[in-house]
Amino acid sequence: MNYDYDVVVVGAGPAGSMSAKTCAENGLKVLLIEKRQEIGTPVRCAEGVSKESLEQFFEIDKKWIAKEVVGAIIYTPDGTTVRLSEGMAGNEVGYVLERKIFDRAIARMASKSGAEVVVKTTAVSMRREKDGVVLGLRRLGEYYEVKSRIVIGADGIESRVGKWGGIDTTIKISEIESCIQYLMSDISFDPDYTHFWIGRKFAPGGYVWLFPKGDGIANVGLGVLPTQTKESAKVWLDRFVEEHYPEGEIIEVVAGGVPVTGPIETAVADNIMLVGDAARHADPITGGGIANALKGGYFAGDVASKAVKARDYSKNFLKRYDELWKNDFGKTLYRNKILQKKFLKLDDETFNKLAKSIGNYDLSEISVKKLVVELIKHNPKLMWDLKDLFL
Ligand SMILES: Cc1cc2nc3c(=O)[nH]c(=O)nc-3n(C[C@H](O)[C@H](O)[C@H](O)COP(=O)(O)OP(=O)(O)OC[C@H]3O[C@@H](n4cnc5c(N)ncnc54)[C@H](O)[C@@H]3O)c2cc1C
Repeated sequence: MNYDYDVVVVGAGPAGSMSAKTCAENGLKVLLIEKRQEIGTPVRCAEGVSKESLEQFFEIDKKWIAKEVVGAIIYTPDGTTVRLSEGMAGNEVGYVLERKIFDRAIARMASKSGAEVVVKTTAVSMRREKDGVVLGLRRLGEYYEVKSRIVIGADGIESRVGKWGGIDTTIKISEIESCIQYLMSDISFDPDYTHFWIGRKFAPGGYVWLFPKGDGIANVGLGVLPTQTKESAKVWLDRFVEEHYPEGEIIEVVAGGVPVTGPIETAVADNIMLVGDAARHADPITGGGIANALKGGYFAGDVASKAVKARDYSKNFLKRYDELWKNDFGKTLYRNKILQKKFLKLDDETFNKLAKSIGNYDLSEISVKKLVVELIKHNPKLMWDLKDLFL
């Protein structure tokens, strides 16, 4: 088979652009396709990401960052607050991005490294031929085919590449967090922190977030699990906004789903790799997926480059990518899936109690290990069975 490309990447979100950039930097012939007419819009994200997850890959351009924060404040139903430093608060706290600019910037890096980037182009079919893949594309009404040694599916939550490739990425409705977010102006909050409200009172099966984007302007949103409430995410958000920020103006609305399935068994098949939300790499508790999309994209690009050098595109070779993500953020996905199931059983009173038991500590000083020891000490019945996950 004559190949048009070494690697075709489907989807130019953070996972796809990072994969394409890594492959192109390693000298591969790469095509990155995006079905939307503009990369990065419309934004379906609260845009929070830890500093470390960006800084390990890029020199930060200030234009990508709407706001830098120093930590997170968590509010429980009775108003108890816990303040976490940025280092402790997880993969979504540190920077609040302008994803419209950020997503475009990574795609541009891929292009500068030699990848061919095309927009308004949708992958509509895929079939395997001897030692390669034929991908059917539709661009401005015209159908055409390209041949590639490897296809990387970075096509987000609605991924079709996984299904075409025979990778089991089935998500049950009960494992899709239903999210809605308003970009709000003229509201008042501490802009140096991201803010989270937990408990059934606010968002059954999820949480409310407020991520500052500047003075008086913030992404205010929530996710709920359909198994935990009959009311829609919008009803819950409107109720929250009415109570907390009745003075605010809604200047943008975003809705979307986040897969909170926990890790899938494999993200590869012969000639195929999945990255980011397509590989169900979003965190089961926070729903955050940018950090893992970038890292997974880097791992996939690296393994694809080695596969092309070795001329081996078999599942057996590509499994090296599975090993990389599983030994890295896969461990957290696994742990947080167990925690998520536990959290779903907690009532609001328990959230209040847990928060009160650590409320007196300066959590910018305390390590995660010490924090868990304190939680177990004060709530032995509740926390004991989780100790092995942390200690
Ligand atoms: C409301 C909401 C808030 C969120 N907040 C956060 C947050 O604060 N922090 C965080 O880390 N994560 C957050 N997330 C999750 C985060 O947005 C995703 O995990 C992240 O965007 C995953 O990146 P990706 O590259 O895998 O997929 P995406 O960013 O979804 O990109 C996939 C791309 O593939 C394209 N595509 C799809 N099908 C095709 C096709 N057939 N052909 C061509 N192109 C195709 C799509 O148009 C899209 O551009 C949030 C999600 C939602 C819904």
